[in-house]
Amino acid sequence: MRNCVCGVDLGGTKIGIGIVDSNGKIIAKVNVPTPVKEGKQAVLDSIVKGIEDVITKANLKTSDLLGIGVGSPGPLNSKLGIIYNPNNLPGFENVEIVKFLNEKFGTNVKLQNDANAAALGEYIFGSGKGTENFVYVTVSTGIGGGLIVNGKIFEGANSNAVEIGHMTILDGGPACSCGNIGCYEALASGTALQRFAREAVLKGEKTIIKEIAGDRDIKAEDVFKAYHRGDKLAIKLVEQEAYYLGVGMINLIALYNPERIAIGGGVSNEFDTFYDKMMETVEKRALKPSLKVCDIVKAKVNDVGIVGAASLIYEK
Ligand SMILES: [Zn+2]
Repeated sequence: MRNCVCGVDLGGTKIGIGIVDSNGKIIAKVNVPTPVKEGKQAVLDSIVKGIEDVITKANLKTSDLLGIGVGSPGPLNSKLGIIYNPNNLPGFENVEIVKFLNEKFGTNVKLQNDANAAALGEYIFGSGKGTENFVYVTVSTGIGGGLIVNGKIFEGANSNAVEIGHMTILDGGPACSCGNIGCYEALASGTALQRFAREAVLKGEKTIIKEIAGDRDIKAEDVFKAYHRGDKLAIKLVEQEAYYLGVGMINLIALYNPERIAIGGGVSNEFDTFYDKMMETVEKRALKPSLKVCDIVKAKVNDVGIVGAASLIYEK
């Protein structure tokens, strides 16, 4: 079967690798570890083994591939095909991954920041279809995203544009891992929600969240579970989450005037839970002419890390 692409989603602990057809469907998938402690070469070897395994699993030959797309944490340079020094890949520095995989497999290889790749995947194969100006926002442990303009990723000078998670939402707000304060992801990510819940529990606020978590640490999903059981603290926290999500949306609508914003990531499993509250804030405060042409939807593509990486090859 020709016209398939291999998508590589390089993460800090595991690498998801899949064969993706021209409809965005994953026809075979493997996960391999990211042995970053064993050094650069070990990570590269793991990627090669994963690609070979998934090609075999899909009953393909290397020559059947249109190419290999790699989504990686930044900083990186997509044009030079170099990954610089991602925070969650210590030691995996200045890796010329495009050159390496191109020499190994003799096929077209493209590299992109993982959030940008996910945005392109959702644009080509998901809710972005048919739009020209599209924003993808992933809300999970952090907040990331990407902007597609006329079918192309808007990259910025070094593939780092539209770092949605680091927009300042609340001056004087909580510290962010990036060094700034009051960032979107410090207020509205799954990690932020879980931090707000833990702080409230430590203060002794009355809630069933702790009981739901049991012996382990409180997670964002515990807050949503408690919300669905009518817990007062959880309702307050989820409403705050929806409010901060909404404030970020207002900024995105003002900046980019998109036709659609799609929300993906773990927290988007609760899209229907926070949507109405989020929209209350958005409808009250967003620029009216821009809001009129924009809708905010739940992202559609599963395994968007892999599909997004593959979409780099399908990009027109
Ligand atoms: Zn930040």
